[in-house]
Order: sequence, then structure tokens, then C-alpha cells
Amino acid sequence: MIKITNLSKTFSGVQVLDGLNLEIHEGDVVALIGASGAGKSTFLRSINYLEQPDSGQLEIDDFKIDFATINKKEILELRRQTGMVFQQFNLFERRTALQNVMEGLIQVKKLPKEEAEKIASEELAKVGLTERMDYYPKFLSGGQKQRVGIARAMAMKPTLLLLDEPTSALDPELVGEVQETILKAAKNKQTMVLVSHEMDFVYNVATKVLFLEKGKIIEEGTPEDVFYSPKNKRTAEFLSRYA
Ligand code: ATP
Ligand code: MG
Repeated sequence: MIKITNLSKTFSGVQVLDGLNLEIHEGDVVALIGASGAGKSTFLRSINYLEQPDSGQLEIDDFKIDFATINKKEILELRRQTGMVFQQFNLFERRTALQNVMEGLIQVKKLPKEEAEKIASEELAKVGLTERMDYYPKFLSGGQKQRVGIARAMAMKPTLLLLDEPTSALDPELVGEVQETILKAAKNKQTMVLVSHEMDFVYNVATKVLFLEKGKIIEEGTPEDVFYSPKNKRTAEFLSRYA
């Protein structure tokens, strides 16, 4: 089980995350929704320490850290346990699709090159990119680039996969192929936290929906509960804009 306790973060005195608590069970797909500036990206980035929280604890099974006193060894372990998929893909432009997926396996997991290559090609096959393995990112479509991004994160076998608006930088006709890839990972019980503004997709993929406002979770429930009978007036107002 994954447990986040009392996670807080300020940027220049402004409280962006305000004492967040969350429990995530194996196979859960937690969708984080909320207005621009609510703190969604900061929340994801704090979980794997791309942002430094001011306070908070994180437990991933037996691995327990306190963000206020986290050390280098713990950061490395945290990065092994959590994988991130970025809105803008963040691929290495000077490396092929295959090399992009191999990178973390070699640098973080310290696997020998041959083994890293084997795992990377298997992960690229799972996202339908066997034919594109040796292409550089600039010769891939946005949807293909994001599928490389997903393969790269999944190759690390993360306990928790974090996805920050993985389809919002894509042309509309490419959104579906990336959503399918994420749905497949969800069906295979990959635990994840996903930020998305695509409410149909959230409804289909999530096991749990959180509505974040000003750094606080003000509503939490199944997609049915949150979409069809929101308890909080602010959630209802937010969702009405997507109707
Ligand atoms: P969006 O839907 O637009 O992506 P979000 O919910 O992901 O929004 P965040 O990016 O987490 O929002 O930002 C939350 C708040 O923190 C915003 O007010 C933002 O301006 C501020 N913020 C985020 N990153 C930084 C930073 N590095 N320095 C200062 N302020 C920041
Ligand atoms: Mg964001």
C-alpha cells in the first residue's frame, strides 16, 4: 500500500499543497482533477521529489520516508519506485526510442546493456513501437513520443506510475492511441496517479477521483460518485464546465 501523509508545499510563501493525505492501494488508478493552478502537477512532482515538499511522509510498502529529512539514498530509491510520464514527453532528443527506454535501466537500475536492451525492446513492443525502436524523437509523432515516454516509465517496473496530463500536448487524432496504452496498463493493474482534463477518459480509467482545490483534496470518491453526485458545490461547478 502507498500512503501519503500531511504533504505540504509553499512557493514563495504561497501554500500550494496544504496537508494532503492519500492512501493508494495496489491496482488503483487515482485521477486528480481540478482547475489550473490547483496544485495537481506540484502534487505529482512532490511525490517523486522533482519538487521539494516542505513537509510530509510517504510510505510505499516497507519503504518509508519523511520529506523534511530525505537523503540521497532515499531519493534514489524513491525514483526506483515511482515513474513519471510528462505532458511534454521529456525524451532525450539525441537518443533513439530504444536508447531512451534503456537509459533509466542502465543509470538507475544499473543493469548490463544487453539486459536493458532486452527489457526496453519488450516495453516498446507493448506500446506498439517495435517498428520505431531505432528512430530519434524528431522522427516520431506526438502520440509515438508519448508511447515511448510510457514505455520508458513502465520499463522501470514502478510501484507507482505518475502521469501529468499525458495527452494534453497531442493533436486530437493522436489522443486515442495514448489513452489506449494507459487503459491497457490500468487493466494490467499498474497502480497510478493521473492528472487529466479529459473527463470521459478519467471516468473510464479511474478507480478513484480526487478533486483538488487550492492544494486541498475537497472531494474524493468513485468516478460515479464524483461525476454524478458530487458532495461539494465547487466540484459540481467545476464539472459543469465539462458537460
Ligand atoms: P495546470 O492545470 O495549469 O497544470 P496545476 O494544478 O498543475 O495547474 P501547479 O502547476 O501545481 O498547478 O501549480 C500550483 C501553483 O503553484 C500555481 O499557482 C503555480 O503558479 C505555482 N507554482 C508551480 N510551480 C512553481 C514554481 N516552480 N515556482 C513558483 N510557483 C510555482
Ligand atoms: Mg499541471
